[in-house]
Amino acid sequence: MILKTPAVVLRQHPYTETSRVVTWLTPDRGRLNTLIKGALRPKSAFLGQVDLFYTCELLYYTKTGDGLPITRECTALNMRPTLRDDWRACAIASYLTSLLSRAIPEKASRQDVFDWLEAALDDLAANGGSVQAMCWHELKFLNLLGLAPRLERCRQCNRAPNEQEVPFSIADGGWLCARCRNNGAPRNVVWVPVTALQRLTEWQRSDSPAIARNTRLTFSQQSALERIPGLFLAHHLDLSPAPRAAALDILARRPPRPVDPEARVG
Ligand SMILES: [Zn+2]
Repeated sequence: MILKTPAVVLRQHPYTETSRVVTWLTPDRGRLNTLIKGALRPKSAFLGQVDLFYTCELLYYTKTGDGLPITRECTALNMRPTLRDDWRACAIASYLTSLLSRAIPEKASRQDVFDWLEAALDDLAANGGSVQAMCWHELKFLNLLGLAPRLERCRQCNRAPNEQEVPFSIADGGWLCARCRNNGAPRNVVWVPVTALQRLTEWQRSDSPAIARNTRLTFSQQSALERIPGLFLAHHLDLSPAPRAAALDILARRPPRPVDPEARVG
């Protein structure tokens, strides 16, 4: 049987000298591997039609026997070419696709997750990468999974914070005000500036990443944002923190400065 579906390229790797295996995300069939025969031949019809982070129209033969499903045709619908040049945007795109691959079961049919990934890749391709943008897309993803943390108010009495920092519990996905934590010091918490939680709350409520992109963060807000969503995702989805740390590492790098030839000592 032949099926046709929109599909985003999550990964690809060589299979034989001329063929490769592509891992796709589809709205109806979740993650899917297909074999592209002859993909690497010079006159292959697939040349230029499949690459990382592309959205394609995919036609494939559903699996027969124990082999991989075979790709029949593939047409690139959205190539997002800037993701090949902009290494900050590319780092976040790689991290978000790895996050999705680990958080969502392989065959889960999730149109909402597919839409989230497409919107995130479009945003990164159009506007580049930053810690703010990464956190905004992470918050949207947590929302889809029903794991949105409670950032704005005390999770017990629902009061607004009246301290500058509150003890955020990664396990509980919220924090307790001074009145509610009168049973001694809280355990296993991260103290977070209230202003960082306020920024995240604004981002949780907004439908556009522009609000996050336009937020200038103080040093303490930025370091909270670099830690909290990552710890939260790692704890609740049982994930390795490494892919996120790698993305943050790339975001923190500055382009190398050109060497001034006059300054060289002879
Ligand atoms: Zn309280």
